[in-house]
Amino acid sequence: MSRKIIFLTLFLFTLVTSFFVASLTEAESTENFEDRRSRILDELSLAIDDAVLDEKYSCCIDPPCTMCYMGSWIWDDGICRCDEMIANGEDDKVCPQCVRGLEEGQCKYANETICELGPEVIS
Ligand SMILES: [Zn+2]
Repeated sequence: MSRKIIFLTLFLFTLVTSFFVASLTEAESTENFEDRRSRILDELSLAIDDAVLDEKYSCCIDPPCTMCYMGSWIWDDGICRCDEMIANGEDDKVCPQCVRGLEEGQCKYANETICELGPEVIS
C-alpha cells in the first residue's frame, strides 16, 4: 500500500515538473526581440552597478560604458579604468565608447574639465 503511494507521488511529481519545464521553455522561445533585449540590457546594467559598488568600475561617463564590462576593450574581468586613465593622462587607454560619450557630453562629473581628453583622442 505505502509503495503504491510513494510510486504515485513520484509519478505526480515527475508529471508536474515536466509541465513546469515545458512552460518555462515555451516562455523563453515566445519572448519577442524587444523584451529579450530589454531583459538582457537590464541585467547588464545591474551587473555594472554591482561592479561600480565593488569599485571595479571607474567609468567616466553616466550611464557607464558597457564595452569595458563586456571585455571588448583592454580590461578583463568586467572592470573599467577609463576614469583613472583620463586622470593619468593616458587618453589612448580610454575605451571608444567612453570617448564617444564624452564627446556627447556624458561626463559623470559636474565639473566637466575632469573628463577632458587630449586633442589627439578627440576626432
Ligand atoms: Zn569604458
